[in-house]
Amino acid sequence: MVRAPRIDAGPTEAEWAAAVAAVRDLPDAGRVLLICHVNPDGDALGSMLGFALGLRALGVRELQATFPGPPEVPEPFRGLPGLDLVVPAERAYPDPDLVICFDAASESRLGDLFDRLGRAEHALVLDHHASNTRFGTVNLVDPFAAATSVVAEQLLTRLGGALDASVAECFYVALATDTGSFRFDATTPAVHEMAARLLATGIRPGEISRRIFDTRPYGAVRLHADVLTRTRFEPESAAGLGLVWTYATLDDLARYGQRPYVLEPLIDSIRCTAEADVSCLVKQTGEAEWAVSLRSKGGVDVSRVAIALGGGGHRLAAGFTGRGSATDVVDAVRAQLPSALLGIEDQG
Ligand code: 5GP
Ligand code: MN
Repeated sequence: MVRAPRIDAGPTEAEWAAAVAAVRDLPDAGRVLLICHVNPDGDALGSMLGFALGLRALGVRELQATFPGPPEVPEPFRGLPGLDLVVPAERAYPDPDLVICFDAASESRLGDLFDRLGRAEHALVLDHHASNTRFGTVNLVDPFAAATSVVAEQLLTRLGGALDASVAECFYVALATDTGSFRFDATTPAVHEMAARLLATGIRPGEISRRIFDTRPYGAVRLHADVLTRTRFEPESAAGLGLVWTYATLDDLARYGQRPYVLEPLIDSIRCTAEADVSCLVKQTGEAEWAVSLRSKGGVDVSRVAIALGGGGHRLAAGFTGRGSATDVVDAVRAQLPSALLGIEDQG
């Protein structure tokens, strides 16, 4: 059984102090490169852009935000404040003074941009994945934080930064994304307190949610229907807890003229299956390459499955890059499930 090292406590005071010092000690005109994970989601972009805007308000002038892969920001996020700071990966400072990474559990999530960490004096890692590999010089990893933006807000506060409506909108998108719009167990009193601080800046949650979660092109609606039609339910998998899965190909995207990110909400459409603990969405990204999303309702630790297959994530939400055909990928997942079952004592 693959047991990954897991982080079981938040940052220490010494780590917070080291992160604050790394920002405060920037030389005049020091270049700060902010990087979030490949195929950025709401928490990756929101925590990075909110923190970038906070740094700009603190007087940091040489700032870039970036992520690996095509420099395309998914349509739902194109209204986010701070996008003027985003540059394509190939234009990112080759030799930044400070690198700050957001929501990336491992180096592999940063693609070729990982080389910037070795060239900078300090590399801060802000994250909330228990599977984080602590690849920075200072690691602010809080596995109890509902989103990376929780860590980002704390660091900004410790730096003396303020929440204005632009910073707040970014952090709100991040928080709402990773709590499933305040539905998951990660939605603690502290999460609602942070949401209250963000809303107090005057941002409009209804308008933001509609834009981020509830808007998609008609072609995407039709595409979703096709993908859901081929959903399979396997009651015997995961030692009888049940597995539900489906897949989407590049042909599916091409047929409706859609971009890959329109597939992201589909995992929510299959994970509601009452009879299955585990859900799996397999999204083609190349000839024989697939981005895989895994979810569990508590019977299985899907981060163990993902880590065993080269990825990572959280206990109830994880992912990895799969190879071969879609059925090869599902076969690999199915084979890992028995060794990732959670005992009653692990659940909660
Ligand atoms: P999603 O299914 O929403 O893309 O990802 C669920 C969780 O798994 C997120 O916390 C995400 O960061 C993590 N995750 C998804 N894909 C990968 C991957 O390929 N590698 C790693 N390390 N984590 C992943
Ligand atoms: Mn996150």
